[in-house]
Amino acid sequence: MSIDEIKKICVVGAGNMGHQIATLCALQGFQTSCTDIDQKTLDKATVFADQYLPGRVAKGKLTEQAAEEARARLTFTPVLADAAEGVDYVIEAAVEVLEIKRRIFAELDDMTPAHAVLATNSSAIVSSKIADATGRPSKVVNLHFFNPALVMKLVEVVQGPHVSDETTELSMALCEKLGKTPVRLKKEVNGFLLNRIFFAIFKEAEWLLEMGVASVEDIDKACVFGAGHPMGPFRLMDLTGIDLAYTMGMEAFRNSGDRSDLPVPSVVGHYMRGEYGQKSGRGWYEYEK
Ligand code: NAD
Repeated sequence: MSIDEIKKICVVGAGNMGHQIATLCALQGFQTSCTDIDQKTLDKATVFADQYLPGRVAKGKLTEQAAEEARARLTFTPVLADAAEGVDYVIEAAVEVLEIKRRIFAELDDMTPAHAVLATNSSAIVSSKIADATGRPSKVVNLHFFNPALVMKLVEVVQGPHVSDETTELSMALCEKLGKTPVRLKKEVNGFLLNRIFFAIFKEAEWLLEMGVASVEDIDKACVFGAGHPMGPFRLMDLTGIDLAYTMGMEAFRNSGDRSDLPVPSVVGHYMRGEYGQKSGRGWYEYEK
């Protein structure tokens, strides 16, 4: 299949990532169906599309006609079989639970045309853990968007050992058509590319703090003013959640058995005190609720 033959895209899951990926696909000219098992989430996704597209018109970023056409290309349904009918490419963005993803992919394998690529937006589950739930492993690939998907340019395309060159190249071409900047990972690796780099920076920043070398503020300043990062690692951790940093560290330790993967004492302290960052009003920094 060539990129020009991709006409219809199905997005499974309409949560944080799915609703934006679906809106993006419709905006870039694809007939797009978005599905979720939760009707409330679908309703929220519908309201989002109804408000976001006119909002872009109001900001002068989109013509009224383009917004109307994009909205007309986008449909929402709770029925997976309806969303999957006649699609050329699927982007799965359902909850991060392996068994649920495997079930969805097995169903998609029955419901979609044989030529369709089945991609997962998972942050951590490599597609080789899902591919054998289908009869088309060479077409099951990781397509990792970043949050918020309408804004962030990067998409990681991860070529597991079962993935054909054709699927990878098609996926790269699709990302470009969606206005993204794709990068190709030539092999599967936990954490993919950017998150691994981020984890390394987070870890080093945390140990510098533990060793008493510098304050939270100064470590953040070093990254902002020396490396040109938009925000330092502690500010970013407050944004994404210290609870997430804690649970990911624990999960990494359980998988690797490597004690250096464990969250550092100050992360554990914040976590135990319920200081998760911005969402709880206090983390590495204080926030007004
Ligand atoms: P979310 O919890 O906001 O949304 C997940 C949605 O999946 C929910 O609305 C849920 O109802 C739906 N769902 C559950 N089971 C389903 C099923 N069987 N069929 C259809 N829908 C189903 O999660 P999210 O943050 O949007 O993450 C979705 C995926 O994207 C995950 O795999 C995650 O790892 C990945 N991801 C998340 C981020 C992020 O920053 N949130 C970034 C990149 C990738």
